Amino acid sequence: MRNIRSDIVIVGAGLIGSALALWLAKYTNFSISLVERNEPLSQPRDGNQRVVALGALATDFLQDVGVFATLGEHHCYPYQKMFVWDESSDGELCFDAGNTGHASLGHMIDSQECTYQLQQTVINSRVDCHFGAQANALDFHQTGAKLELDSGCFDAKLVIAADGNRSWVRQQAKVFANRHGYNQRGIVTKIETQKPHLECAWQCFLSTGPIGILPLSNNQSSIVWSADNVLAERLLGLSDQEFSLELSRALQGRLGSVKLLSERLDFPLASVRAERYYKRGLALVGDAAHSIHPLAGQGANLGFKDARVLGELLATANQNELGCPRLLSVYERKRQPDNNQTDSLMSALHQAYKFDLPIWMLARGLGMNLINTSDVLRNALARQAMGL
Ligand SMILES: Cc1cc2nc3c(=O)[nH]c(=O)nc-3n(C[C@H](O)[C@H](O)[C@H](O)COP(=O)(O)OP(=O)(O)OC[C@H]3O[C@@H](n4cnc5c(N)ncnc54)[C@H](O)[C@@H]3O)c2cc1C
Repeated sequence: MRNIRSDIVIVGAGLIGSALALWLAKYTNFSISLVERNEPLSQPRDGNQRVVALGALATDFLQDVGVFATLGEHHCYPYQKMFVWDESSDGELCFDAGNTGHASLGHMIDSQECTYQLQQTVINSRVDCHFGAQANALDFHQTGAKLELDSGCFDAKLVIAADGNRSWVRQQAKVFANRHGYNQRGIVTKIETQKPHLECAWQCFLSTGPIGILPLSNNQSSIVWSADNVLAERLLGLSDQEFSLELSRALQGRLGSVKLLSERLDFPLASVRAERYYKRGLALVGDAAHSIHPLAGQGANLGFKDARVLGELLATANQNELGCPRLLSVYERKRQPDNNQTDSLMSALHQAYKFDLPIWMLARGLGMNLINTSDVLRNALARQAMGL
């Protein structure tokens, strides 16, 4: 079997793994390898429905690695406002980029196009890429780790797990992760609305889960309808026309009638928290370290923050320090509290909108309206939503 020496091996070429590989290749002299079980994505079709709302820190990272500029208007759309309301009370919240000192609250980015561009850029960089590679075994030792693929065996100082919320690397390393299912599915599709979206992200909280409307070019939007399993099952079984009607009704007609532009995809929703973000020779980033409810669109934003912090720490290290617990513990201290707090906040919000006691609904509405009248509170929340 071929023996390959590499200082850093990243497993998983999703948004976070590919971006981190590019960043490390640009800012360090270490040898970097990237291992992905699937073949590289082919250029996505136009009707792609999955979008991630990314704040300034994440888009700065994409800019830094040379990918942001490759995303055309059709795949990267700035939004200026966010309007949030509660179906069961008169509670409303409105965030406006104009009050935050930023040109926009963030960008709606086509997740497949962005991953495609990241993968193409990394394939053409100095990173040693292994797509369609099956990892069979991973062992850690005093000076790093051995990762065995079908095609060869890596001898690395550091393995970075960027292989998603069911991380194989995390399991091989015996790092425990706490998983809590929400009994909900996120239904994702693309729509066109009768009324203009006004470059505004719309978020409606129903007792069965929130609906997010993420604005795109040409008055199209991507939606994430997080629905309890029973409702999700029913929604997925409806015809396109019935689903459009149901969606328009759930949005209380605020965007008028709705036309479906793509098929519906659905994702099970869970909170996953790795107990540790490192051990000797290993670091976890992105969904491999944490996965959260998508109701505020924060998952990938947190992953890009992980990539920035870990990348900057590794850039200060010498080759022998790469897998050192002393160095990697700094990464964990810097990132785990922020990720856990955001996860707790998402779980609390998810719960808060499920209670339908009249007194609670009244308090919820009053609370939202109170925040809406306070510039300080509203801007603090806007900064959180912007991933700052
Ligand atoms: C419905 C929904 C809406 C969302 N909306 C937003 C949003 O608006 N904003 C936001 O910031 N976040 C959002 N998120 C979260 C965001 O999608 C994730 O946080 C992000 O995609 C995680 O990226 P990742 O690279 O860490 O993991 P992944 O995207 O899961 O990538 C993991 C990669 O590892 C590969 N892999 C897996 N196992 C192996 C293995 N054994 N060997 C080699 N490769 C392997 C996979 O093939 C994949 O390419 C949303 C999530 C959902 C479900």
